[in-house]
Amino acid sequence: MKTQSIGSSSLRSTRLAYGCWRLVSTMNPKEVTPDREAEGRRAVLAAFEAGYTLFDHADIYCAGVCERVFGEAMKGVSGWRDRVVIATKCGIIFGGNPNPDSPHRYDFSPEHIVKSCEQSLKRLGIDTIDLYQLHRPDLLMDPPAVAAAFSQLRQQGKVKEFGVSNFSPSFVSALQGACDFPLVVNQVEVHLARLDCFHDGTLDQCLEKKMTPLAWSPLGGGVLGDESTVDADNPRRTSLLKLQQTLDEVAMRYAASRSHIALAWLLKHPSGIIPIVGSINPERIADATRADDINLSREDWYRLLVAARGVALP
Ligand code: NAP
Repeated sequence: MKTQSIGSSSLRSTRLAYGCWRLVSTMNPKEVTPDREAEGRRAVLAAFEAGYTLFDHADIYCAGVCERVFGEAMKGVSGWRDRVVIATKCGIIFGGNPNPDSPHRYDFSPEHIVKSCEQSLKRLGIDTIDLYQLHRPDLLMDPPAVAAAFSQLRQQGKVKEFGVSNFSPSFVSALQGACDFPLVVNQVEVHLARLDCFHDGTLDQCLEKKMTPLAWSPLGGGVLGDESTVDADNPRRTSLLKLQQTLDEVAMRYAASRSHIALAWLLKHPSGIIPIVGSINPERIADATRADDINLSREDWYRLLVAARGVALP
């Protein structure tokens, strides 16, 4: 796979990242079994062997189990740490924590950021996180306090670069204004079945500020994948079926698959979108890298956009 810079930082990664959210096929640590952990380790190693060099995590992915499973999988691979960029996130606290009636919420307090970072380092089995992201906007965010926590982590060598996730452009600006170093990514949901980032200023800001957009759920959580169908009760069934049909027609011309084209469509954007592939199937993980070889024509890019919109452009 080709590589690119991450934002204006010195970090470099492959054009596709691998996401560790689904590694153990559950978000509930009580449902984790030895077989599920083994499947997760196999997926991580498949991604590493297929050449992915950016791995995305979060503290909440199965309450830390995914970070631990990743760390265990890589332990046996000599020299892996120098070849891989590790990203993780903090800032979400699930309901029921610390008290049974505590609500699901967000927390960008310096105490939470620092504590969560230290716990992630331990689980991942590393000394430094390459890219630390705030997971979802905390409406109580105090930009100078967050900036101070980031600076502390950077000075202590615990984090190299910082980014955000699911932030609106104005929320990015509010935080960037307090930081004397650039925020290098905004990790957002963008794919052919979710076009908001093209219209709400997110991708414009990435272009302007040289932030890299990391695209989560780049196959729409599977709906844009090769063998996917659309549930009969899906309110968007008709438009998604039409989109899948257009993807298949375009794929024929490139001797590619529906998934390849859905990923190549994101890769075409000049902001340098990095799709985060989320399959835990080793064959699909390796196969997705073919998307990096496909350069869609402008005509096909727009053909897919129009199919995704469901209406012609003005
Ligand atoms: P995705 O690649 O859009 O979806 C993966 C899902 O699609 C898996 O269940 C996979 O099943 C299925 N799939 C893949 N290829 C398929 C195919 N050809 N046919 C049918 N189904 C197929 O990505 P995602 O897992 O939703 O998200 C990717 C990453 O984004 C996560 O791991 C995480 O790092 C990040 N993320 C971030 C946020 C955020 O708020 N920042 C939110 C969500 C996700 P198999 O495993 O069986 O292949």
